Amino acid sequence: MLIEIADKSGFCFGVERAIRLTEEAAERYGEIYTLGPLIHNSIVTDSLEKKGIHIADEISDAAGKPLVIRSHGVTEDIESSARAVCSDCIDATCPFVKKIHNIVSQQPEASAVIILGDEKHPEVIGIKGHARCRAYVCADIAQIKALYESGELSYDEDAALVIQTTFDRGRFAEYSQDISKNYCRVKIYDTICNATTERQKNAEELAKRAALMIVVGGKSSSNTGKLAEICARHCTTVFVQDASQLSKQLIKGLRSDSIIGITAGASTPAYTIREVHRTMDEIIKTNENEELDFASMLEQSFRRVYTNNRVKATVVGINKNEAVVELGTKQTGYIPLDELTNDPNAAVSDVVSIGDEIDAIVTKVDDSNGVIFLSKKKVDSALGMEKIAASKEANETLEGVVTAAVKGGVIVITNGTRVFIPASQTGVPRSGKLEDLVKKTVPFKVIEINEQRGRVVGSIRQATKEVRDAEKAKFWESIEVGQKFEGEVRSIEDYGVFVDIGAVDGLVRTSELTWNRVGHPKDIVKEGDKITVIVKSFDPEKKRVSLSAKDPNENPWTKFVADYAIDDVIKATIVSITEFGAFAQIIPGVDGLIHISQISTDRVTNIASVLAVGQEVDVKIIDIDTEKSRVSLSIKALMEDAAPVEEASDAE
Ligand code: SF4
Repeated sequence: MLIEIADKSGFCFGVERAIRLTEEAAERYGEIYTLGPLIHNSIVTDSLEKKGIHIADEISDAAGKPLVIRSHGVTEDIESSARAVCSDCIDATCPFVKKIHNIVSQQPEASAVIILGDEKHPEVIGIKGHARCRAYVCADIAQIKALYESGELSYDEDAALVIQTTFDRGRFAEYSQDISKNYCRVKIYDTICNATTERQKNAEELAKRAALMIVVGGKSSSNTGKLAEICARHCTTVFVQDASQLSKQLIKGLRSDSIIGITAGASTPAYTIREVHRTMDEIIKTNENEELDFASMLEQSFRRVYTNNRVKATVVGINKNEAVVELGTKQTGYIPLDELTNDPNAAVSDVVSIGDEIDAIVTKVDDSNGVIFLSKKKVDSALGMEKIAASKEANETLEGVVTAAVKGGVIVITNGTRVFIPASQTGVPRSGKLEDLVKKTVPFKVIEINEQRGRVVGSIRQATKEVRDAEKAKFWESIEVGQKFEGEVRSIEDYGVFVDIGAVDGLVRTSELTWNRVGHPKDIVKEGDKITVIVKSFDPEKKRVSLSAKDPNENPWTKFVADYAIDDVIKATIVSITEFGAFAQIIPGVDGLIHISQISTDRVTNIASVLAVGQEVDVKIIDIDTEKSRVSLSIKALMEDAAPVEEASDAE
């Protein structure tokens, strides 16, 4: 705040002169009297009293003593009496007032004098006391008008108009036009003191710019009262007698760039003005310090954060595009959605909830708008990068959600970090679509990491291979002959089919597809078929597993052994012919061999000439090898059984 003292304020020329004359007289006489207070300011009069300058209410109080007539002046009669009664009469009447006395006293006796002013003011009383003609005191134009309308004054008679020196010039300007226009015989003497006018003018100019005007002067000083009245038209105005009446309350609510004006009436000494100035200055400084302290304390109560600071923030609001956070600063924090997460498919509410305490990095501090922008994903990414680096170090498999298929691969988000998986590492075949992976959770291994650039490259293939390797290792550790698996036919070959039994593909040879005789595996299964298989044998080193799709409970050999025995004669169907004999099916799944030597009692050199595939023949079971599950059949044995037995010769 700025304190400004009005250019013209305080003692006027007349008051200063009166005090000087009085003090000089007091020095000369040791003790003197003033007729009434020298000025309307108790501070000054108290001070003068200490210098032996007393106040006489009546002339008789100063009889025989030197008496000072103050600047207001007195009536002619009082002046004469004073000169007669007192030892000396020092006339300190202001020359400007004296001039009015002269104007008034010089008016012809037949004329009239109008004194515009306060009839109770000593100056006005004194002026009136110098008139030798009719004298009227009017406070305003209405009273002048009343004089004429009542006939007290005639429009035809000459009259003089004088004005109390401290009268408001603005009001007089209004009246003078009216008087000139309506009362043309009135001669106007502008006796308003310039000191008063200038004080009023300066005070008004200052009041127009100020937020507060302090008018200093005695409560009974009319010119000070007028200053206060003028100032009050423009701003808050206080009327004080001295600095003791000032308080901090006066500047409450004022802006820091406010102007505080000080003006003072003509009876206010310079030291009182200085004291008021100094006191106000102290009040302002104290207030500013207090405000500064408060502001400083307030400032200190807030955290200061700077760009790139990592901070803890509490989520206090969520909207579509951002999270609003509180971080103990005077600014409000905002985390835009794209700074909350790397996942382009996520909503704000998917990432944070109101009340969450989160770590974030300050990306921008905008003091002018009172906002701070932050990024959660940078923290997550940094933390994620640490975890990813540790995972790579430990050769761990990570999991993440595929958020997008991009040129050359897919993006996976894990631990808040973006990981690029090249297409060749996705495990998706060239003919497949990378888009099919989007929104799926996938395992991957980190194959490249650049923490500075925040670049991570991963491989789903390596992760799945590792899983499969682990599964294979476990498989080989636990595999047993006779173990049953539910498998899927992967491929079909002439010699059998490969069946996926989880960790490995096992081979089911054609003969093991069914108990029945099989021409080609395609006649039994097709790729993708689910079949039950049993481990027949395995070789961990060669990673080979032989499987059988035959159900042991349906083993036809068991049925054969139970139902047939050696020497049984049965019907069988020729199913194949070889060089050494023909195979004949006894029951489905059990074929017996009719050796070439057992086809006939005659010598057979060409089997096909005597037997044909599909031919049903009667055969005799001549041998059963249970260990090798082989059956030997014979047609010849039946032929021999049927041959007549020759009788023994008598000669024998
Ligand atoms: Fe004189 Fe003017 Fe001061 Fe009155 S205000 S004492 S007229 S100088």
